Amino acid sequence: MPVLLKNATYIDWKTLEFSHVNILIEKDNNPVQFIENIRQVHDQPDLEVLDCKGRLVTKSFAVGHHHVYSTLSRGMDAPKKNPENFFEILKYVWWTLDKCLDLEMIESSALVTAIACAKAGSTFVIDHHSSPFAVIGSLETIAKAFDKVGVSHLLCYEISDRDGVNITREGFEETEAYLRNHQGLVGLHASFTVGNETLNQAAELMTQFNSGIHIHVAEDLYDQDFCLRNFGKRVIERLNESGVLKSSKTILAHCLHLDESEKDIIRNSPCWVVQNTESNMNNNVGRFNGAHLGSNIMLGTDGMHSDMLQSAKAAFFAGQGFDSINYSSAYQRFRNIHRYLNENNFNGDCENNLIVLDYNTPTEINRDNFCGHFIFGINSNHINDVISNGKIIVKNRLIQTVNEAEILKVSKECANRLWKKMAI
Ligand SMILES: [Zn+2]
Repeated sequence: MPVLLKNATYIDWKTLEFSHVNILIEKDNNPVQFIENIRQVHDQPDLEVLDCKGRLVTKSFAVGHHHVYSTLSRGMDAPKKNPENFFEILKYVWWTLDKCLDLEMIESSALVTAIACAKAGSTFVIDHHSSPFAVIGSLETIAKAFDKVGVSHLLCYEISDRDGVNITREGFEETEAYLRNHQGLVGLHASFTVGNETLNQAAELMTQFNSGIHIHVAEDLYDQDFCLRNFGKRVIERLNESGVLKSSKTILAHCLHLDESEKDIIRNSPCWVVQNTESNMNNNVGRFNGAHLGSNIMLGTDGMHSDMLQSAKAAFFAGQGFDSINYSSAYQRFRNIHRYLNENNFNGDCENNLIVLDYNTPTEINRDNFCGHFIFGINSNHINDVISNGKIIVKNRLIQTVNEAEILKVSKECANRLWKKMAI
C-alpha cells in the first residue's frame, strides 16, 4: 500500500535542505516522489495518507553495531564475581549470559530490539550475535523477528574458539547456512578468541560469499597484548595478513588501541570502523579517536540501547578535548552507515525509509543550524512515525506491525528464566 505524507517539512539528509512538500512513498525500491497535486494521488484506492501538519520528515536511521543477545540483561543481578577488568567483564557477564540463551530467548530479544530500534527511528540494524549453546537457527530466528517488526538487518554469528571446536564448527555451519539465503556478514568475536585456523576459514567463507567480516578490534589493550604475545604481531597486522580487510563490507568495531601503522592500514583499506562511545565508557576501556582512521567511520550502540540519536550525542560529548568531532562531523558519522549499506548494495536502506519528527523547537530550525538541533534538541522522544521500506511501522509513537504489550510480557518471562539459569 503506497503512503502519502501530506504537508511535510522535508529535510534532505545529505544536503540538509528544507522543503515543504507532499511525499509519495512506495513499498518497492522506487524513489520517493515529491507531489505537487495531491488530488491526483488521492484517487489511488489503497493509498494510506498521513497528515504531517508541517512536521519535519527525514531519512530514518540505522545502527552500525548492535547485540540482540544482550537485550534481556537490563536490570539483572550483579555477576558472581565483581569484574575487575575487560576480560572479566566478558567472562563473568557476557560469556555467562550468552551461554544460557535458547532460541526462545533469542526470538524474544530480537523482537524487543527491533521494536526499540524502530521507535527510536532506526529501520536498519547491523547485529553481531552470540549464543554458544543455541547456535544453529539463531540467525534465522533473529531475521524472522526483525522481519515481523519491519526492521531491515545485516546479521552475523560471532564465531569464536573460546567454547571449543564443536561450537566453532557450529558457528561456521550457521553462518554458511544463513549466507546461502540472506544478506549477512561472517562474524568473528575478536582476535584474542580466534585462532589462525578459524581466522583463515572465516576469510575463505567471506570470499566465497563475497561478504565481509564483522569483528571487535582493540576494544581493550588486552586484545593487542594477547596478539603480540601469541602471534608476534598487532591485531590489525594479523587481520590484514588474513585478507579480511580487503572487503568494503568488513566492519571493525571499537578500534580504540591502535598504533599509527595500524591506522595507516585501515585508512588505506576499504573497510569500516564502528564507534561505540557509551559501551567504551561503561567498560572503562578507553576513548575513541577518529584521527588518521579515514572517513569510513560509523556509529553503533554495542547492545547498550537502540537509540542512535543518543549514540551520536555521546560521540560528540565524549570526544570533546580528545577526538576531533564537531556538530557536523558527529552528524556525518551518524549518517555514514547509509554509505556503507548503499555502496555495498545491501537491501533495505533505500530512500523509502523515513521518519516524522514531532519537534516543536523554541528557536528557528533551518539548514544552517540543523546540526546544532541534532546535538542539543532532537531526541528519540520526538519520533512520531516511522516508515520502513515504504510501510508505516510506527504511527503516533505506537508500533503497528506487532503486539508490543504481548512481546514485553514474554520478554519478562524469558528474562526471568535467563537470570535463573545464569545464577546456577
Ligand atoms: Zn560489540
